[in-house]
Amino acid sequence: MTTESAAAAARATVYGYPRQGQNRELKKAIEGYWKGRVTADALRATAADLRRTHWRQLADAGIGEVPTGDFSYYDHVLDTTVMVGAIPRRHREAVAADRLDGYFAMARGTQDVAPLEMTKWFDTNYHYLVPELGPDTVFAADSGKQVGELTEALALGLTARPVLVGPVTYLLLAKPAPGVASDFDPLTLLDRLLPVYAEVLADLRAAGAGWVQLDEPALVQDRTPAELNAAARAYRELGALTDRPKLLVASYFDRLGDALPVLAKAPVDGLALDFTESAAAHVDALAAVGGLPGKRLVAGVVNGRNIWVNDLTASLTTLGTLLGLADRVDVAASCSLLHVPLDTAAERDIDPQILRWLAFARQKATEIVTLAQGLARGTGAIAAELAANRADLASRANSRLTHDPAVRARAAAVTDADARRSQPYGERTAAQRAHLGLPLLPTTTIGSFPQTTELRTARADLRAGRIDTAGYEERIRSEIREVLAFQEKAGLDVLVHGEPERNDMVQYFAEQLTGYLATQHGWVQSYGTRYVRPPILAGDISRPEPMTVRWTTYAQSCTERPVKGMLTGPVTMLAWSFVRDDQPLGATARQVALALRDEVGDLEAAGTPVIQVDEPALRETLPLRAADHAAYLSWATEAFRLTTGGVRPGTQIHTHMCYAEFGDIVQAIDDLDADVISLEAARSHMQVARELAAHGYPREAGPGVYDIHSPRVPSAEETTALLRTALKAIPAERLWVNPDCGLKTRGWAETRASLENLVAAARTVRGEL
Ligand code: GLN
Ligand code: ZN
Repeated sequence: MTTESAAAAARATVYGYPRQGQNRELKKAIEGYWKGRVTADALRATAADLRRTHWRQLADAGIGEVPTGDFSYYDHVLDTTVMVGAIPRRHREAVAADRLDGYFAMARGTQDVAPLEMTKWFDTNYHYLVPELGPDTVFAADSGKQVGELTEALALGLTARPVLVGPVTYLLLAKPAPGVASDFDPLTLLDRLLPVYAEVLADLRAAGAGWVQLDEPALVQDRTPAELNAAARAYRELGALTDRPKLLVASYFDRLGDALPVLAKAPVDGLALDFTESAAAHVDALAAVGGLPGKRLVAGVVNGRNIWVNDLTASLTTLGTLLGLADRVDVAASCSLLHVPLDTAAERDIDPQILRWLAFARQKATEIVTLAQGLARGTGAIAAELAANRADLASRANSRLTHDPAVRARAAAVTDADARRSQPYGERTAAQRAHLGLPLLPTTTIGSFPQTTELRTARADLRAGRIDTAGYEERIRSEIREVLAFQEKAGLDVLVHGEPERNDMVQYFAEQLTGYLATQHGWVQSYGTRYVRPPILAGDISRPEPMTVRWTTYAQSCTERPVKGMLTGPVTMLAWSFVRDDQPLGATARQVALALRDEVGDLEAAGTPVIQVDEPALRETLPLRAADHAAYLSWATEAFRLTTGGVRPGTQIHTHMCYAEFGDIVQAIDDLDADVISLEAARSHMQVARELAAHGYPREAGPGVYDIHSPRVPSAEETTALLRTALKAIPAERLWVNPDCGLKTRGWAETRASLENLVAAARTVRGEL
């Protein structure tokens, strides 16, 4: 390496890397360990091998400073819980008996103890384990994992930077432990936590860390003055330590806002900021606080959570404007590369020309290095890379896939009226009652029935060519007949076909829509050993032919009772896919909505009286900052109304959402203009029903009375009690009776019993009206 390229290399870094390995070796080793087929030592060896492979990949690409400590057997927030010694009381025995088994007990629970709760990591599809803290929490430093992984990387001769979840974010992500008052604020534990971080930092320093990164993504959310003060105090104290490595405080997923001046003033040595959206405005904000004199700025200019090639020229412009604003400017991805697949080279089914538009983790590492070289040595040094990049961007911009004139013309012609039903909600309910003839407290389910081994085998048989399409479809039809026969016998009112033909509620539609790409190996960690392969919204979206109509009409032909058609809504299609970055999200949502609108129209024309459009992701893709909510909700609700707005007044539109915490979007839910909504509510004892009522939600609603996340069968009495509670919030004329969510993860035995109890409960409560 010349001195110049060595200098450039030192300027390229990342915060984290996919953990699983090219063939998901980590998943296999961990699940093998759980089943007793892989020893603890073998699991540790696989993990160490993967870490080494990944560091080498980064170093070979030219990344000058590799991250350590980002690796995890399950989740980096759980690793932080271990690092600060905040093991919940109920798990201490298991942890004391065996550290590895105790770790997995916290993650997954055992026969005797419940796991930690799991929730989404900011607005990504990664889930972390929620720390449980209380006034009695005693922290104790355990730097073993961090020191161990740093030592491994240093032994390879690499420059390495340990990455830790920062203390403020850790506390802000925590919740009160069971038995602790629900208004307990974990942030009050900051003074107790900082000495533990100080100890870990000293240990890392002693082990050879020059720099340590503290991740504080919670500071990109709206924060109260008290929370900002806590951040200021945390970094004043950690900065004042004498025996410490240099500190890099990292933020990502959005701009820092009010936290920027706080961190800019803090006595730390560097900040990492996200420049992927509205880069120019963020540069201005940084200039407005006087830049970062004397500090290192790590500029996240390569999007760490999307899969498109970077616009290298635009990134260099951003980097150029940053040069005067800090002591040293490094180039990075905007966040850990955990959120993207590993390597596009593994994809064999994507057109090679289109594959050049994509950058997964390995390709992003190369982009970062190229940018660092351009920054250090001028664009002349990367002329070939820039030319190739311009050609790839042009090929994408000019492609028929990304610019389908018919789709564009249709989207441009959308009017307000298209997104509006012909009659307001209050007027169309009568037509629907007449059309459907349902009893009070109608019973229904959310769509899927158990995905049995037979169904999965049928799909595998079809893929492997052991059965043909006709054979496969006969298996699906026979499953539909069984599901319907059960529902009739159980006495349900609005039936479903059970979704046996669907592998996944997004992938199933993505595979049938033009403009979507599927990957073969594009795995991304969702939680623990669960990986998903999000499809890619690559081009303009259209629906070449009906997607669900024949299954729904087949189901309807088997029964006299109304069958509900079942679609995934446009917002959820976006939320669980990689989205385009070359047009606003709202434009992509509109295209998907128009394709789904065609499906809704075909279902209605085929005689489907009730159509459900699932939007479980509506709440979870709410932007991190309140100032951005209105714009998001505006395009999101419009997309839903565009999907459903074309039906006759007598056709009943349902929607479904899971997860609690709806209070802040009740207005948006009303703006969907659906006739009926079903929601998860059983675990929270009908909390959402009360929230809907408190906001004067005027429509029909089915707060779930059967918790489908557990194999437990709720008794008829229990279900009756929940229904009576729901009735206190929602009047009988508007109350539906249904489970929390789809039944695909349940077994048939518990599904049968639980739904029989649900129908019995509805009958009991009807008798009391
Ligand atoms: N209709 C889908 C099902 O029943 C809904 C799934 C979901 O809400 N995530 O499985
Ligand atoms: Zn659901």
